[in-house]
Amino acid sequence: MGKILLKSVLMQNAGEKPVRKDVLIDGNRFSKISDQVSPDVAGNAEVVDCKNFALLPAFYNGHTHAAMSLLRGYADDMELSKWLNQYIWPLEAKLTAKDIEIGSRLAVLEMIKSGTVFFADMYWHREQTMKVVEEMGIRASIGVTIADNLMTEEGLKANFEFLEKHTGESERVKLAVMPHSVYAVGEANLKRCIGIAEKENYPLHIHLSETASEVENCKAQYGCSPVELLQRLGGLGARTQAAHCVHFSEKDMEIFAKSSATAIMNPCSNFKLSSGFPQIARLMDAGVNLALGTDGDSSNNNLDMHEDMKLAALLAKVQGGAEKLPAADALKMATVNVAKINGLDAGAISEGMLADGILVRLDNERMVPCHDLISNWVYSADSRSIDSVLCDGKFVMRGGHVDGEEDIVREADACARDLASR
Ligand SMILES: [Zn+2]
Repeated sequence: MGKILLKSVLMQNAGEKPVRKDVLIDGNRFSKISDQVSPDVAGNAEVVDCKNFALLPAFYNGHTHAAMSLLRGYADDMELSKWLNQYIWPLEAKLTAKDIEIGSRLAVLEMIKSGTVFFADMYWHREQTMKVVEEMGIRASIGVTIADNLMTEEGLKANFEFLEKHTGESERVKLAVMPHSVYAVGEANLKRCIGIAEKENYPLHIHLSETASEVENCKAQYGCSPVELLQRLGGLGARTQAAHCVHFSEKDMEIFAKSSATAIMNPCSNFKLSSGFPQIARLMDAGVNLALGTDGDSSNNNLDMHEDMKLAALLAKVQGGAEKLPAADALKMATVNVAKINGLDAGAISEGMLADGILVRLDNERMVPCHDLISNWVYSADSRSIDSVLCDGKFVMRGGHVDGEEDIVREADACARDLASR
């Protein structure tokens, strides 16, 4: 791998004024950040003139279902249980491995174009998604998804074997254990999931307390909340990543914070499915680790982390006062907080870290004037101002273009039409 020198790019650390720096990327890491990188250090680096650009951390999507991009707009304007049972699960039953590949490619394209270089994915036919991630040059934590109602005992066994062998893992693509939820996975299989995550050192990723009825049903079945159930089964700890966490009681928050588990907020999806208001300010006050995700394309209906980041910041303020979750902290929720829990030494622009980032156009109308770069990015801009995306020291988008994007869109459109008519 070669060297890239980002010449005179605008950067900003929290609380400081934006400044121009030279940034040298050597292989897949930021190797030198200084006022001026001398030519003998830069060597034969490709020099990119960045006087028009700011360098910001790329997004890391903490929770999604990539190939659901094919189901975008298929069932809208209804609550979670009707949406899942009457529309999504019946159509998903018809998805083939090829559909998943095409849908994943559309999703990864969408993510790259909105500045995302990593996603935690809970879905089916994981091999196809893994292949697409490798091809398109980004990172992912690919879930081996467990749901009792949707698989046979042989299917379950195959999944656990897949995990035991760490099948297909690479530097950019890792696996995670993903029991769907406490309503889709019974106590016995939840225990098996927790056991293998411990034994093989995987993240344990689950939908948790997404709706009020999930909590009620859990109480009726188990006599406790979903958080208490996970705790009772030994499934709450630093490796636990729980998506949604909308309906936590005070006691749930206390248990969750103490366990060092992370709550992944998905505000757009929660609003659209009318699941409720994620209690961002209260979770922060309780000391819960927070990160951010988009959820899937059929409940959001896009994979743009910027929208969820801004919404999370605004939500925290309306709940906890205007000083709650400042722009720089909202950006951390969407970047380094997600990277860290997925074992990535990434999510911030600093020497020694993995060279992931985005070049944002400073002449975009929403980036002018630039009193505060982070404020502009979090509260004003959108993905149209992203010029280029770097992942692992390589450009995966340059000048607003991703290799093969026209074919990806055409193929996904044809595939989704065919799927809906099956
Ligand atoms: Zn989800």
